[in-house]
Amino acid sequence: MKIAVLPGDGIGPEVTREAVKVLESLDLPHLALSEGDVGGAAYRRHGVPLPPETLEMAHHADAVLFGAVGDPACDDLERHLRPEQAILGLRKELGLFANLRPARVFEGLEHLSPLRPEIARTLDMLIVRELTGDVYFGKKGERTTEDGEREGWDEMAYSAPEIRRIAHVAFRAAKAMGAGLTSVDKANVLETSQVWRDTVTEVAQGYREVALSHMYVDNAAMQVIANPAQFRVMLTGNLFGDILSDLASAAVGSIGLLPSASLGERQTGYGTFGLYEPIHGSAPDIAGEGKANPMATILSAAMMLRHSFGREDEAARIERAVAKALTDGIRGGDLGGDHGTEAIGAAVRERL
Ligand code: ATP
Ligand code: MG
Repeated sequence: MKIAVLPGDGIGPEVTREAVKVLESLDLPHLALSEGDVGGAAYRRHGVPLPPETLEMAHHADAVLFGAVGDPACDDLERHLRPEQAILGLRKELGLFANLRPARVFEGLEHLSPLRPEIARTLDMLIVRELTGDVYFGKKGERTTEDGEREGWDEMAYSAPEIRRIAHVAFRAAKAMGAGLTSVDKANVLETSQVWRDTVTEVAQGYREVALSHMYVDNAAMQVIANPAQFRVMLTGNLFGDILSDLASAAVGSIGLLPSASLGERQTGYGTFGLYEPIHGSAPDIAGEGKANPMATILSAAMMLRHSFGREDEAARIERAVAKALTDGIRGGDLGGDHGTEAIGAAVRERL
């Protein structure tokens, strides 16, 4: 099990250290960890945010555990040298096309959600977002209208193969969870969405055990807030997924608890290659103070075991240990508690 650990900047190194300790305490067979430079840390040592040796390490690994990149000291650099370019470069070079973002309100943390507690506690969904297509990557430009005004334009496109590939990821996840799938589009207005809807419906034929429903994105946004209990797995394109995953995260209300996975096409000896990272950033304001909550990164490591190594048992053990630590009152500063990074890591390991 070859894992490339890329801690990065700010609180990245502190939180990945705790996630690595959790992995090491599990007695996983043939666990081989290597560490690479990325982000501002890499810029300082190699002059670029994503050095070739880091990329090489990721290419040869079965999975990547990523901390965070971002460094205020690099703000004045040219765009291609900024730390954030590292994660964009990794996504591109590693062919990561599926973004998985669970949003879940843990027991006892309902009060952090902006939703009413009785609604908040029903929020437990996985958003599967396509990452490589859509309006972000279409042709775009600016022209002048007949009245001499500026006009910007962006082309939105999705091909059936692109949709099939992401749909399979979502259906597989739903099948493994024994859950239903909601596909989100805007098929009443967009051609892209009609192809999307038809293709998803076609893929569904191979997953009879997964109940598929379709929903328009405007309704989906409303329903995530009004009645989140109806969603378990949500499949959506790049643009809608960008917005809906942030909406769902905000509905959870605790940035230090949210993990993510980005899966590629490459199959390793264990399963699907992926990159795993917390959704929070480098949080320079608390970096180096031992205050960062490592739970999001620990939960990202659990996703890694599930999606890249087929180790559902250990993944579920980690998730239960985190949930138990929370109900036992182990809380970081982000959750209104006073436990530090190492104490939280230790508390999770004790409960494995
Ligand atoms: P970046 O530029 O890398 O995104 P950021 O300053 O935007 O960094 P975020 O990580 O996006 O920081 O989070 C915003 C705020 O939330 C931070 O200022 C930090 O105080 C808090 N925060 C983020 N992650 C954590 C965490 N794991 N534990 C505790 N607090 C956190
Ligand atoms: Mg940020």
